[in-house]
This record gives sequence, structure tokens and C-alpha cells, in this order.
Amino acid sequence: MIADLHSHTYYSDGEFSPETLVRNALKTGLRHFAISDHDHLGAIAEAQALTRNTPLEIIPAVEINTDWRNEEVHILGYFIDPEHEGLTSALAGQRRSRELRVEAIIRKLQQLGIDITLEKVKTKGKGTLGRPHVAFVLEEMGLAGSVREAFEKYIVRGAPAYVPRREDSMNPVEAIRVIKAAGGVSVMAHPGVVKNFSSILDALMGEGLDGIEVYHPQNPPLISAYLEEVAEKNDLIITGGSDFHGDGLGPSRGLGVRELKPSHIQKLKERAGSHPHPSLSHRGRGDL
Ligand code: AMP
Ligand code: FE
Ligand code: FE
Ligand code: ZN
Repeated sequence: MIADLHSHTYYSDGEFSPETLVRNALKTGLRHFAISDHDHLGAIAEAQALTRNTPLEIIPAVEINTDWRNEEVHILGYFIDPEHEGLTSALAGQRRSRELRVEAIIRKLQQLGIDITLEKVKTKGKGTLGRPHVAFVLEEMGLAGSVREAFEKYIVRGAPAYVPRREDSMNPVEAIRVIKAAGGVSVMAHPGVVKNFSSILDALMGEGLDGIEVYHPQNPPLISAYLEEVAEKNDLIITGGSDFHGDGLGPSRGLGVRELKPSHIQKLKERAGSHPHPSLSHRGRGDL
């Protein structure tokens, strides 16, 4: 096991700090590790500083959750430049849009007679807000037996306090574009849970999607085998991740993806290298 390309810290809906994840990754013996917080880049520099003299490579990453054609499509970005202005301002916009969505969810819950506030929900994370933080509070209030149940009962699509993402949040095409503008590689996350996968994949490949997350706890083995073929046929790169969040959203399996091989990492890097990296050209000009 050499790598894990999908994980979350308390900068989004994960339980732990970047430092705890990095320690865990080192203990597991990983060589390549991506923290892919939702709409937040805060963990990247911290993790890189902590691994400077270790064999662990931190791959800068992000996960952008979008709604498209009535379902959730999450786009991962790898080797993005965390300083890229277009990307940082787009993510700031996403976070504002998310906070307004969470406020709308809270209003619906209050209409159901639930005594929940934005202040309380905000205490559950240190960065990007989302439905998980609402679910943590609902569980803590005893309104659900688990975070998963809080989702099902109140805030999944079709539940009484569900609110879709706002129109001002990014769609997957915009997510792919901003990731590529920041020098990154774009990957569709956990396709195993995307119902209209084939048609969505076709559309997004036309927009420059670079790869698919073939190995993920929510892709059963048969699905992963099918996705391997799809990747091969369409010249898409293959990634994989544990989607580690700690135990906050339910019991986790820990870090590391058995199936990832050095060749997968190599191809991801080749794909990243084939996009011009904006920060490198900036630095080049600055040096003159
Ligand atoms: P949001 O982007 O605010 O809509 O939150 C979506 C995040 O909530 C996903 O990335 C998952 O981490 C988590 N999530 C979504 N559905 C569920 C569920 N049914 N149970 C637990 N966590 C979920
Ligand atoms: Fe998450
Ligand atoms: Fe996701
Ligand atoms: Zn994730």
C-alpha cells in the first residue's frame, strides 16, 4: 500500500487536524497522500510543512461538491496550485454559497420545531460548512441515533429539511475548468454512487475531465473492475482514496488504498505535467 488520494480534515467535514492525518499516513507507511477537503486548501501547506524531511509526498488536492442533473457529482482536483487566484476566489465563493445553503437548511429545521442555530453548527468545523455539520448537531441533540440517520431523516434529497445547492455554486463543468486553470488534474469522485454515470461521464469528458476515482469504499469490487475498463478505453487516469473523515460520519476503515500502484501515481503526475502550471510561469517571470 503506497498511497491514498482522498481524505478530509477539520477544514471541511473531517474529524481530525492535518497533523493527525499526516502522522497516521506516516505510520501506515504511505508514500503519496492527498488531503482533499471540500472547497478548502488550508490543510495543504500544513501537511507539506510536517512532511518536509520524510518519505511522504503530499499531493495538493481539493474536492468540489456539485449538483448536476438532480444528483451529486463531486470533482477532485490534484496538483492544483494552492495560491492560484482564480481557484482561491472560486473556493471562497463556494464557501459563502454553502453557508447560505446551511442557513436555509437551519430555517427549515426551525420550522419543524427544532432548536438549532448557525452558531451551534459552526462549532462543528474549522473551515468549509456543509450538511455533515448540521447532522453532527442533530445527532448530538438526540434527534437521530447516528449521523447517517440524521442525514436520512432530515437532510438527504427528498427529506423535509433538504435544500439543494444554490444556483451560485459551481457546477461540475466549472469545477473542472477552475481546477485545470490552477494547473490541476480533474477526477470524478466515487463514480460508484453516481446513478447516471455513463451519460455524466460522456458530458464531462467533453469538458476535459482527466480521470475517475476507481478505488473508493463506495465502489464495490465489480464496479471498480468495470471502471478500470472504462478508464482504459477512454484514456482516463485512475485514482483511488479512502475518503477518510475520522469516525465522525460513521466508522471509518483508516487510510491507504491497497490497489494503488506506483504506475497510477506516475500517470497522475504525467497528466499534471502535461498541463502548464501557472505558478511556475509566475515564478519564472519573477526570477528575471
Ligand atoms: P454537502 O456538500 O454539504 O452537501 O455535504 C455532502 C457531504 O456529506 C458528503 O461529501 C459526505 O461527506 C457527507 N454525506 C452525504 N450523504 C451522507 C449520508 N447519507 N450519510 C453520511 N454522510 C453523508
Ligand atoms: Fe465529506
Ligand atoms: Fe465526495
Ligand atoms: Zn470526500
